[in-house]
Amino acid sequence: METVAPQKEIIDAIKAAGGDAFKSCYQCGMCDTVCPWNRVSKFSMRKIVREATFGLTEIDSEEIWRCTTCGKCPQVCPRDVKQIQSGIALRRIATEYDVFAGGAAPIPGIAASLRAEGNPFGEARAKRADWSLGLGVKRFEEGMEIMYSPGCYLSYDPRGKKIAKATVEILQAAGVDFGILGSDESCCGESIRKTGDEKLFRTLARQNIGQLIGNGVKKILVSSPHCYHSFKNEYPEFMVNFEVVHITEFIHQLIVEGRLKLTKEYAKNVTYHDPCYLGRHMGIFEQPRQALRSVPGLQLKEMSENRKNSFCCGGGGGRIWMETPKGQRFSDLRLAQAAGTGAQVLATSCPYCITNFEDSRLGRSDGGAAIEIKDITEIIREAIY
Ligand code: SF4
Repeated sequence: METVAPQKEIIDAIKAAGGDAFKSCYQCGMCDTVCPWNRVSKFSMRKIVREATFGLTEIDSEEIWRCTTCGKCPQVCPRDVKQIQSGIALRRIATEYDVFAGGAAPIPGIAASLRAEGNPFGEARAKRADWSLGLGVKRFEEGMEIMYSPGCYLSYDPRGKKIAKATVEILQAAGVDFGILGSDESCCGESIRKTGDEKLFRTLARQNIGQLIGNGVKKILVSSPHCYHSFKNEYPEFMVNFEVVHITEFIHQLIVEGRLKLTKEYAKNVTYHDPCYLGRHMGIFEQPRQALRSVPGLQLKEMSENRKNSFCCGGGGGRIWMETPKGQRFSDLRLAQAAGTGAQVLATSCPYCITNFEDSRLGRSDGGAAIEIKDITEIIREAIY
């Protein structure tokens, strides 16, 4: 780890890391009024911006890891400060230089596991495709319609594997010619980049790009909005351009084209949570809803904070790997909102949201505990046969 002197060097480092927009801030505080942290504790993006502008080293090291990169504050900032890029610039400096107390991100073991095995769970790379055993899933070959990339959570996490299985059964029911890369796939690197570890992101991205090109992949189907954002918006920085489709877009398209028929009744009230990285970041709001409305018997109920005003689950920006104290978990509030609509099912389309909501559901004894948490694919799968 290098050490840099404070102030001018920090300001230069922030600028070099893409955080130059800090200086446009005129301290109006609009960012703090919409930040989800201020619903559960106290946090000030405005204060971080002010301190970073002057290259101050007394920035509270715990504070810079709080932002979930949910994307709420850039929507209201009158000065286009680009809080996410600027906040990540600070994290990169914390990771690469010894300037803030506390050092790099509080995610012990994650970077080492990503580096050694290509996943954040400390699991063997060789087991990455074990979820697909017995499901009739093929290895991707050039000429297939699409390459399915389940991502780390759906490959290794027991809850996530159920979503991968539902996805495969939907694709098979619709007659989609698809394959996977299995152990040749690595983490997309989106979340580790958000924690400031730019070097590791670039290593993972290059590994994946080498495999994608080497295997003749042109079109990628993803389950995670984080993979979606990374493949679609970040990988082009490496001069590549794959066609990337999120599973909710693909399912909607399969229904519209008549390839996927939903005939079995699913007579439940369902509310849909827009994941930050699918909604605000990537603009996918309607396809998931239209897919759900296609399910016979399903009644869709909206929470008041929906679409671009959706309330973050707390899992973005690398927070999925960090400990959030009880009483400060955004997902607890969101679960209460979902239960308040009278829905029996909280549906979403992101493995981080699923993980956080399942944790919140287990931790509650009121109405929130009764609600089921489902990925959209699990509902669609139930409506096929
Ligand atoms: Fe600064 Fe933008 Fe926040 Fe206003 S909303 S305090 S201009 S970062």
